Amino acid sequence: MLLSEFAANAGLKYELSEIMRKKSLPHAIIIEGAEGTGKKTIADIIAQYCVCASDGQRPCGVCKSCIKAKEHIHPDIVYADGQQSKALSVDSTRAIRSSAYIVPNEAPMKVYILLNCDKMLAPAQNAFLKILEEPPKNVQFIMTVKSSASLLQTVRSRSRIFSLFPAEIDDAVDIVSKRFPERDISEIKDIAEVCDGNIGMTLQMLENGGQEAQKLAEEIFASILLPSEYPLLKSIQQLTSDRTFAASVLDFMTEIAAECVKASVGADVSSKTAAAVAERYSKNRIFAVSENIIYARKVLNTNVNLNLFCTWLCSVLRS
Ligand SMILES: [Zn+2]
Repeated sequence: MLLSEFAANAGLKYELSEIMRKKSLPHAIIIEGAEGTGKKTIADIIAQYCVCASDGQRPCGVCKSCIKAKEHIHPDIVYADGQQSKALSVDSTRAIRSSAYIVPNEAPMKVYILLNCDKMLAPAQNAFLKILEEPPKNVQFIMTVKSSASLLQTVRSRSRIFSLFPAEIDDAVDIVSKRFPERDISEIKDIAEVCDGNIGMTLQMLENGGQEAQKLAEEIFASILLPSEYPLLKSIQQLTSDRTFAASVLDFMTEIAAECVKASVGADVSSKTAAAVAERYSKNRIFAVSENIIYARKVLNTNVNLNLFCTWLCSVLRS
């Protein structure tokens, strides 16, 4: 993808294109933004710029280096993902540090893309800091993180921070509908609204069942209100079949819970289910349910047994 094709974030795109035009890329860059806002895409564009062999505008998108970069097979672009165990540990960071002093294989410079640096603990960040203090020549570091606040001040102060934001709903619908031309625009719009214009999250939800997940999330919430526990158990049971679908349902539940919290303090909400829940339960109870759902979403990211998870979820929603 070229910078001009990246959705929304006009300020960031302008700033970055000016930096590229002036060939004044800071040696360390932090890209911060919520999950699904395109941090890795921006990191990839910068990496492609660094290795591009064109004499004209970079990245050209067509030279051998650009193509290798796009296919993630360029030998001078190194990825380390904090989501993978020990990828950003102290030892791995030290290994990155020593390899950074070795000259590039074929490009004019080497690029290190450190993804999900939220997972990078302080000792590893300190090990990394040493290289930021005395950066080797012709090396570009790019870190991605949900919030730069999770990085040490010393790391932040030696880097340039770029912040990414979700797109406007209409822009998000426009982009997502091109990827899913067979899907109904109103369904895409519903999901984009739930995701607040976050394109990555909208795409993920569509891939994971979209409307079906939204329907089940509403059904689970409506079942909390019923006197019998059985309908809730039956709805929640549907989460045991597929972990990504369950995650999608819980994302929708998180949104409905947020609506319930708003309704409980007297704000107008569009969700009828949320309004009904707010009418029936106390503010404290709604806050507790909302927190439990947020917690449940995190638990789902671990390797929890789905059957046990569903039984537990049913009990916390009813308690
Ligand atoms: Zn190129």
